[in-house]
Amino acid sequence: MLIGIDLGTTNSAVAIWRDGTAQLVPNALGGLLTPSAVSIGADGQLWVGTPALDRMAAHPADTATSFKRLMGTQRNARLAGRDYTAEDLSALILSALVRDVEALTGEKPAEAVITVPAYFNDRQRKATRRAGELAGLTVRRLINEPTAAALAFGLQDKGDREPFLVFDLGGGTFDVSIVEMFDGIVEVRASAGDNRLGGDDFDHALSTFARGRLDPDGLLDPLPAERRDALLKRAAETCRRALSTASEAEFALTVNETRLSATITEAEFESACESLVRRLRDPVVRALRDSSIEAAELSDIVLVGGATRMPVVRKAITRLFGRFPNSSVHPDHAVALGASMQAGLVGRDAALEEIRITDVCPFTLGVEVAEHDRYGGLQRGLFSPIIERNTPVPVSRVSTYHTMGDGQKQIEFGIYQGEAREVSGNVRLGTLQVPVPARPAGEVSAEVRFSYDSSGLLEIDVHVPESGTTRNLVIVDEEDRPDPKDIDRRRAALAKLKFHPREEAANVALIARAERCYEDHIGALRQTIGQWITEFVGALDTQDPRRIAEARDFLVERLDELDRASPL
Ligand code: ADP
Ligand code: MG
Repeated sequence: MLIGIDLGTTNSAVAIWRDGTAQLVPNALGGLLTPSAVSIGADGQLWVGTPALDRMAAHPADTATSFKRLMGTQRNARLAGRDYTAEDLSALILSALVRDVEALTGEKPAEAVITVPAYFNDRQRKATRRAGELAGLTVRRLINEPTAAALAFGLQDKGDREPFLVFDLGGGTFDVSIVEMFDGIVEVRASAGDNRLGGDDFDHALSTFARGRLDPDGLLDPLPAERRDALLKRAAETCRRALSTASEAEFALTVNETRLSATITEAEFESACESLVRRLRDPVVRALRDSSIEAAELSDIVLVGGATRMPVVRKAITRLFGRFPNSSVHPDHAVALGASMQAGLVGRDAALEEIRITDVCPFTLGVEVAEHDRYGGLQRGLFSPIIERNTPVPVSRVSTYHTMGDGQKQIEFGIYQGEAREVSGNVRLGTLQVPVPARPAGEVSAEVRFSYDSSGLLEIDVHVPESGTTRNLVIVDEEDRPDPKDIDRRRAALAKLKFHPREEAANVALIARAERCYEDHIGALRQTIGQWITEFVGALDTQDPRRIAEARDFLVERLDELDRASPL
């Protein structure tokens, strides 16, 4: 079975294409979104999703979130004393989603279409594909998130559509795509984005603003940075979400039995995140310019991503385009639904027969060169584009380069992605060396071919006609080219972690939630919550289904009461 997965920074979702429609798959708790959070206990016990998020407060050193931001880097997160890469942690999310599909359909999916931000570079894409492999999935296609959302929007009634713009602001990334639908062809005209801008940044701006007012005595200062950041982030997110529907909200947290709180108004929040809102404009302008489409020609501005629920963002969009955005797709579901439609396309489902999709390469790819200037000097470190941004994919382009020194025995190509004139301003993807016959400068040439496939993965061939030598590079530096044995070893290590059995999922999540409440309160109430947890765990130990059900109902009711009584 082929499934579609939205592997998000904050939330992930999985959908299947069945009987001619896209359908989201619920997780073990019945939710359609699974928070991209992983928590690992000392004994290898594993929590994924909501319960992992709930464990964040009590076990920050064992819990990871937002790790997609580290995708494609070698930076590790240390959980329960062991190191995990973003790939490993993403693989655990994917494994949880695979289990959900298996529980719904009775069949273990083997293949997937996974979405990535359009702005993900080659390293990040390869890392995402490896995460799929680590989770035991064959990744048939990577598809850009806004493209997936465009499919979900565009195929709503299958009619032709004027160009529309997909505006996707999630937890950590911002993507813009301009898409057209004509005669069953979904054509992405241009993509642009900022992979360092999302709801997380608004939380950060709000925390920074609120902290001085909240904590004039510096009670938060002595806390370990990890714990302090987790407290502030959670308080900020709760406050920010409340501001989506109210004109003021409480920013509140408890530290060492002292409750700190401050009221934040909509206007204060807006001014705290002014510089972030300003950054929403650039990618929009760039996408319009690259596609040669005027803002007035756009038929719709389609909002995707949880952070587009913020009124300050909606206001900015309305100002920017002079009209109200379209909310006809579900901002949290569109990407996963679109991914499963793409899965239907890859699997050649009859219901999608007439649909074709063309995407673009969202950034420029090229090599490092040196150029002689007219004064006889040599300027090094310059970028020579081979595939320019927003070229339709798949694409293959060749450029020819010449030797620069007499008797030069090899040419080294530094391979880069980006828009800067000097390569130092771009992302280095790798190096390729090719031997050349020694001749006077400029007499030997090398043809460099860049091929960019429909998953956005790059392959490079260099051919030296003079000697007939050919070199091929699958673009990755030594450091992150794991050999297959390494993948097997990592997969085995991850397989040792223990998922809770599905029938226990609700109880496990309930304990994590109760422990979070325990952390949130102090004094007598805290003691009482502690007793409730002890009693619930005791009931679980009896293994008597009736007692367990009673104890669970009791605890859920109490926690609901507490959450209702909360000032937030
Ligand atoms: P990602 O694609 O990065 O996984 P999502 O699209 O799920 O992210 O969006 C997550 C972001 O949306 C978070 O920063 C979250 O705080 C924000 N968000 C979700 N709901 C709301 C809301 N009602 N008001 C404000 N922000 C929200
Ligand atoms: Mg998303």
